Amino acid sequence: MAEIQLHNTLSGKVEPFVPQKPGEVRMYTCGPTVYDYAHIGNYRTFVFQDILRRFLKLRGYKLLHVMNLTDVDDRIIANSAAAGKSIRDYTEKFVQAFFDDCKTLSIEPPEHWIRATDHIADMVQLIKRLQEKSFTYPGEGSIYYRITKFPAYGKLSKIDLSGIQAGARVDNDRYEKESARDFALWKAPKPGEHFWETAIGPGRPGWHIECSAMAMKYLGETLDIHTGGIDLAFPHHENEIAQSEAATGKPFARYWLHAEHLLVEGEKMSKSLGNFFTLRDLFAKGYKPSALRFALASVPYRKQLNFTFDGLTQATNSVERLRNFADRLKTGKFPAGKQEGMAARIAKAAEEFDASLSDDLNTARALAAMFDLVRDANTAIDKGEFRQGDVVATQQFLAGFDRVFAVLEDNDAAKLQALGFSASEASLSDADIERLIAERNAAKKKRDFPAADVIRKELADHGIILEDAKDGSVRWKRK
Ligand code: AMP
Ligand code: ZN
Repeated sequence: MAEIQLHNTLSGKVEPFVPQKPGEVRMYTCGPTVYDYAHIGNYRTFVFQDILRRFLKLRGYKLLHVMNLTDVDDRIIANSAAAGKSIRDYTEKFVQAFFDDCKTLSIEPPEHWIRATDHIADMVQLIKRLQEKSFTYPGEGSIYYRITKFPAYGKLSKIDLSGIQAGARVDNDRYEKESARDFALWKAPKPGEHFWETAIGPGRPGWHIECSAMAMKYLGETLDIHTGGIDLAFPHHENEIAQSEAATGKPFARYWLHAEHLLVEGEKMSKSLGNFFTLRDLFAKGYKPSALRFALASVPYRKQLNFTFDGLTQATNSVERLRNFADRLKTGKFPAGKQEGMAARIAKAAEEFDASLSDDLNTARALAAMFDLVRDANTAIDKGEFRQGDVVATQQFLAGFDRVFAVLEDNDAAKLQALGFSASEASLSDADIERLIAERNAAKKKRDFPAADVIRKELADHGIILEDAKDGSVRWKRK
């Protein structure tokens, strides 16, 4: 097996991955801020983390993986106050939707899924440690981190601090590099906002202290891997390092992995542009969970992912191709014995698959290794050359592939029904419809009208209406 290499934002380099304790990986992932439904960009990052954990497990590592739910930050405080709800009541719906979405995308649950609001005491404790070491100062009931006291500040995001003004403060959880300043560890309550009464005064934690306190509580003072989307590198992760390392004097995380963002049709996703999608938006359009997972996983995590509907249709077809191949192996009748060279061909594909993922999780290359084998094996089957004796090795390779990619099981309809989509909505994607229309056209061309009618009825049963134009083309719409 190849040596695992990962890109570390801290060093700016691809490095061999060696965990502190042989055979075990301690990993922390910044989870969603549950102020709204998560969008497909968020899931790009969560699917990347899932591919990483699944690959490490495939390679035999025991995972201790923590993902938090940020259920207190500026936006949640503001939204829950505006809705007149407690934080728990306000966030509950989005927490549940997140769990449901993860299940739908076959994102494995981490070993610990934790909430920030269950760990306020740990955050207060960490702030006290920082107070004792004089890394903090008070201001109008809040407590700030003094970044000039931590000379390594900026080592992750490589920001230039030469122009920084000592004592200048920023209160927002999220801000740009240009406004790098002392940030709030603890925020004084504003009228109408939820707050906690604690040993360091009334208030609520800043976003950054949450992750430092929770990560170290479950994983120890030095983690193996810390992950998130690229937008979190600054200020969130930079501040996590400053807080944790100031308190412990030890390196906080050894490998920092960041996923590049997802764009939609080449543009930044935004509600105002009308290109903002949650999972449910796509399922309502007839796309399948497996296709979305495939599309999100198929672009290596350090490349921007340009999400398009064409790409999603291609992903639908790719998953279909894999499932058909798996079915063919399961149900096909092949001549006994082994085809010459096929065992070596399968071993080569497995080696290439492992080498690709070891190469900083090059998922595109790993998929190419899979599809090359599928093409070769399908050709051999078509020619009657593929033999029964090669079935098990091929199936084993497929099973290993699916421990990471998790798209082979045909459970899309059940998943969609669990989310509340009806059976008909749950079963046909745009790609399925196009395929059925093509089959109907082919039947009509052969003058097999009964077959064409069966397909028209199948589509009608799923709420799809066909309109045959005079020029022979067919348009369709959902009822
Ligand atoms: P948030 O809920 O805003 O804290 O984001 C949850 C995760 O999604 C973080 O790791 C973000 O970096 C990541 N994220 C946010 N927007 C995108 C995007 N467009 N593409 C990929 N990841 C994103
Ligand atoms: Zn975090």
